[in-house]
Amino acid sequence: MLNDYNQLLTLLGNIPNELNFSLKTLSSFGTGGMAKLAVFPRSTDELITTINLVKGNYNYVVIGLGSNVLISDNGFDGVVISTKNVNSITVKSNLLTADCGVKISSVIKEMSDNCFSGLEFLVGVPASVGGAVAMNAGCYNKSISDAIKYVTTEVRTYSKSECEFSYRHSRFLNGETIIKVCFLMENSEEDVINEKLKSYKSARRNPKGKTCGSVFKNEGYFAGKIIDEVGLKGYKINGAQISNEHANFIVASETATSKDIYNLIKTVKEKVYKEKQIQLSEEVIYIGEF
Ligand SMILES: Cc1cc2nc3c(=O)[nH]c(=O)nc-3n(C[C@H](O)[C@H](O)[C@H](O)COP(=O)(O)OP(=O)(O)OC[C@H]3O[C@@H](n4cnc5c(N)ncnc54)[C@H](O)[C@@H]3O)c2cc1C
Repeated sequence: MLNDYNQLLTLLGNIPNELNFSLKTLSSFGTGGMAKLAVFPRSTDELITTINLVKGNYNYVVIGLGSNVLISDNGFDGVVISTKNVNSITVKSNLLTADCGVKISSVIKEMSDNCFSGLEFLVGVPASVGGAVAMNAGCYNKSISDAIKYVTTEVRTYSKSECEFSYRHSRFLNGETIIKVCFLMENSEEDVINEKLKSYKSARRNPKGKTCGSVFKNEGYFAGKIIDEVGLKGYKINGAQISNEHANFIVASETATSKDIYNLIKTVKEKVYKEKQIQLSEEVIYIGEF
């Protein structure tokens, strides 16, 4: 892999970028070190150009809204591509196509403005389309993949059945970058959609403070319940604390480091394994070295 960024900077031309960029602002935990280079494409064309320049030449990682990542305090030794400015939406018939950086909240709004139903259950999930599809985000026994028609990457377009969706997984995690996603929407009525949105909003219990949502996967058990049972609710390591509201959330204080959060995750896994012989696995994605 190359580590001379001068040539890359020239090739990026006017695609916005910043050398030695603090990644704290790109993660909902608000922690993490520096990236050698961060790139902020403003369109799918700029995103594809960026990927084609870095792929095979530089270490790189794509970040959407950073609501499910823990970034090392040592940062990322390579190029971080933020998709947050790649965000146009088109609606044609009952197909809604969204660029990877579009917020899920914007997709839901666009849908309801057009009297389409299908993704209301994701209301309140602070994700981008790319991140949500890569993670196959979901709740209430539904997943974003339920509404997908196809996904386009820098390489090709994949039909839903080719995306290898399973619980919090798709072929795009650590794979090709999702450039845009086409959702198949159901026609509905304004009142019905608003009622669904209201009920999902009132059911949602997002943790207060800086978190990544659920830290651990619920694989045949509820991780939060198990963590509670081993007595770790409220447990703290420096600036990182198991939420008092729900034990599957970790809340980061202003002074928290990624190391604090990582050590807390490690402590939880060790205690749960020792007391319950259950191997919890992380839903949160690590970026950089831990
Ligand atoms: C308050 C709160 C509530 C939450 N509630 C839920 C919930 O109910 N259900 C749920 O499933 N999750 C939930 N989450 C977790 C999180 O929002 C989801 O996992 C979401 O899908 C992550 O989207 P993102 O854009 O923030 O992705 P990021 O955190 O930026 O990235 C997550 C992963 O996706 C990859 N990625 C991002 N963009 C792309 C792309 N364009 N192409 C390929 N890979 C990409 C990244 O490399 C990384 O591996 C919650 C988080 C918070 C903070």
